[in-house]
Amino acid sequence: MRLIALLFLCLISLLASCGEIEAPDRKELARIHYGTPLVYVRADPACNAKGALSDLGSTKVWVGAKGKMSLVTVDFSGVSGHGLQSEAIADTLWDFQLAYDRLCVVSVENTSICKSPKIQVRDPGKRLYFCKKGGDYPRESLENVALASLIGIQKTHKLHTSVFPHEKLQRVSLLVHPRIVDHKVIENRSAREGLNLDIHYVRTDNAYWFPIADASFIAAVPESAEKKKELAHAEPRLWEMPAIMSHEYGHHVFWQNAPSLTKALSFRSADGSAVSEDALDLANSAINEGFADLVAYYTYLIEYHALGWFQLDGNLFDREVSKTRFSDGSYKKLDDWFLNHFFAQTPKLPIRQHELNPTDDHAVGAVLAHGIFRIFGPQRATQFRVPEISESDARTAYGLIIQWSRRLEEHFVKDRSEIASASDYLKKALGHSLSLGTENTEAGPLLHQCQTLFQVFPIFNQLVEDHCQMHWEHLGS
Ligand SMILES: [Zn+2]
Repeated sequence: MRLIALLFLCLISLLASCGEIEAPDRKELARIHYGTPLVYVRADPACNAKGALSDLGSTKVWVGAKGKMSLVTVDFSGVSGHGLQSEAIADTLWDFQLAYDRLCVVSVENTSICKSPKIQVRDPGKRLYFCKKGGDYPRESLENVALASLIGIQKTHKLHTSVFPHEKLQRVSLLVHPRIVDHKVIENRSAREGLNLDIHYVRTDNAYWFPIADASFIAAVPESAEKKKELAHAEPRLWEMPAIMSHEYGHHVFWQNAPSLTKALSFRSADGSAVSEDALDLANSAINEGFADLVAYYTYLIEYHALGWFQLDGNLFDREVSKTRFSDGSYKKLDDWFLNHFFAQTPKLPIRQHELNPTDDHAVGAVLAHGIFRIFGPQRATQFRVPEISESDARTAYGLIIQWSRRLEEHFVKDRSEIASASDYLKKALGHSLSLGTENTEAGPLLHQCQTLFQVFPIFNQLVEDHCQMHWEHLGS
């Protein structure tokens, strides 16, 4: 891999980040405490290009579900041990290092301006080789992290290829416990009392997808020592839950189909501020998160639950797309309150654990994903969830979300001047899903599709008025 300095990078995380800021003295440096990364070592350091397997075949890998770890046998036929390469992944690298620097200045007028982030690949990493037929590497080894991460990626790639057999997706590079360092300096020049901040931390306890120039990466960052203390040994780590890597690969699939929507992607920094000032970027990142949740669901269906998606973190709301409610009991629905918070430039922090954070693109994404799941699905929701769908319905729906992402790309590029606001953009995005979901029904939207609009998207009631007159009487039921 080339060593490249970049103009641009976006990280799309699985979870929102919430660090603790130590109370500093005025004009002193502050530090945000994140975890202390626990980077594993190679179980087989002697393995090199010469001895690497040309095809892994049946391989034992440690993976987990809620409260239970198992050594399972996975069919990795077609995967080479030369850095784990397959039709889905281009390479597998360890010891990769990336720095993400930002400078923000709080002016005399008390407005904050951040310069574009500077991204540097500090170390392009080394290829990870696999020589051991049958796998069975120790759970806490770089090899097991790589193999466990690969399961979900391969499975989603297989789903994509089965729905679009004539299409080839670009391959991703898998980063095994990379060191991703965020460094943010905030210079305070305002007259008011304020702080200069020098925030520096290494990312832990998360999974990411990001593009660098034309290349695409999925990163399984290390667990932190602090997190390890919290979790029982039998609890799976993020990379050990295949649906999570499926979600990350979903971001890659989105990027392949809707590159313009991904280019200006934003994510919120450790202090909660949006990296992008453009609300359309925030809207796109919510769409992207929702899309990735749908991809993971269509890949795993009922296994999704068993894979422990809900056990990730205390502050994680419910990302299971078939559920009608968040984990705090509130319904998944977009209303004024939700969107006003989401598009606010200065969100309120900290967010308490177990409380829905409306500024988080994953939260808005979860509502979009739930709504689109219902619009593209064949069944109506009960009070708590949409009944399970069949594998063939999931494949149909997967095809629809891919078409949806392509329509959004087309719309975003061609009709950008017609987008009145970020909220209007979300409404139009939803309108596209409705027209795709009703393309084959001459009578227009079905009752369950109109109910979805009515219940999940009250902020866009115009869509109900425009398309759902025939179901008007039954919408509340
Ligand atoms: Zn994500």
